[in-house]
Amino acid sequence: MHGVSKGKIVPVDHADQMLHGSELFTGAALEGVPQSVHDDEVAARPDPSSVTVLPWRTNVAWLASDLWLGGKPFSACSRGILKRQTKAAADLGYKFNLGMEAEFYVLRRDAGGNAEHVTKRQLSKPCYDIGAALDNFDWLSELVTAMNGLGWDVYSFDQEDGQGQFEIDFQYAEAVTMSDRYVFLRMMANQIARKHGCFASFMPKPYANRSGSGAHFNMSLADLATGKNLFADNADPRGCGLSTLGYHFIAGVIAHLPAICAVISPTVNSYKRLVKQGSMSGFTWAPIFACYGNNNRTNAVRIPGGGGRIELRSADSSCNPYLGAAMVLAAGLEGVRAAADPGEPNRANMYKATNEELERKGIRQLPHTLGEALDAFEADPLSEQVFGPEMKASWLEYKRDEWLSYMAHVSEWETKRYLEFF
Ligand code: GLU
Ligand code: MG
Ligand code: MG
Repeated sequence: MHGVSKGKIVPVDHADQMLHGSELFTGAALEGVPQSVHDDEVAARPDPSSVTVLPWRTNVAWLASDLWLGGKPFSACSRGILKRQTKAAADLGYKFNLGMEAEFYVLRRDAGGNAEHVTKRQLSKPCYDIGAALDNFDWLSELVTAMNGLGWDVYSFDQEDGQGQFEIDFQYAEAVTMSDRYVFLRMMANQIARKHGCFASFMPKPYANRSGSGAHFNMSLADLATGKNLFADNADPRGCGLSTLGYHFIAGVIAHLPAICAVISPTVNSYKRLVKQGSMSGFTWAPIFACYGNNNRTNAVRIPGGGGRIELRSADSSCNPYLGAAMVLAAGLEGVRAAADPGEPNRANMYKATNEELERKGIRQLPHTLGEALDAFEADPLSEQVFGPEMKASWLEYKRDEWLSYMAHVSEWETKRYLEFF
């Protein structure tokens, strides 16, 4: 459920039977899976097209699998949940393309066990700092070379807005493939960073005063037959380079964004990122409202300059990309089917929007906490349509537990503030 790789290691002599689904897994040993200790095992059916030789350990290959139970697709398989939606898109003649921007911190533990950033230079505004990127070039270039060796086509990488934060951007792909890659990337970034005595953190907001780590979803629909991008339109009367189809998709996403948030911003910590202040450059660059705009980073949905795609900025680095992409695609397709219109794009700084303006435009706030997001997820029929009843219930139970466990914890902030106050 977390989008973290789980599996078994199969010696190559048994590859043939493994490819035919010989490897069984007890769901109750995993988190958020609707299975108990007495239930049948699920079978992993590896997808041969996903085979990936580990660049840092070339005698091991990784395969993404679809899970089956009793001869049928298993209801809680994240990959299966996304495939149901990509099939719905294909039934309408569309291919769903997804690019995910990878932002993460790379940290090292000092002798006292504290995690500190690896950048030597202390910078008040570290974003794009070449010196900081070069300080980190050993692990950074090893990781980028590994990604390119897998054919992922990295087009740029940099020191991001937070000290010790990096971003690697690579070519989009069909959504299931991109989700496989993002899950693999989190594992690979860690494995390679650890070779250099550090680790990669995909926690969405590890520091209150530095930018969080997003996993912006860059999305478009293409013609299934020709591959032509159907979101591009140079004659867009709104001047954003987006087609009517693209605007319908946006309208669907905005309508369901609070529920989607529970999935693309799935942790307690995620909601500490979705705030306007709390970074070294003054703004967090993370969205706070369910709205869209032109090439303007203060909106949850942005149409980057040049158009032809939309960027969902609320998604963060802790998301399960399969489940997130499934929710967003289902919402977008609903907008397409209904030919929904999202209204005019917001071109102004939304961080400065007044309550009066928000009310006039009917713009909602994004959930402020995981608890609020889960309420929105539970209430929105889209969740059951996408997750199915069993996975929805299981996922909600696990996530509610996570939220309650956090709420039951008394933090240092509280004792500092209240212990001797009254
Ligand atoms: N790190 C920012 C976030 O939390 C995004 C910065 C950017 O626009 O690249 O989403
Ligand atoms: Mg960025
Ligand atoms: Mg972006």
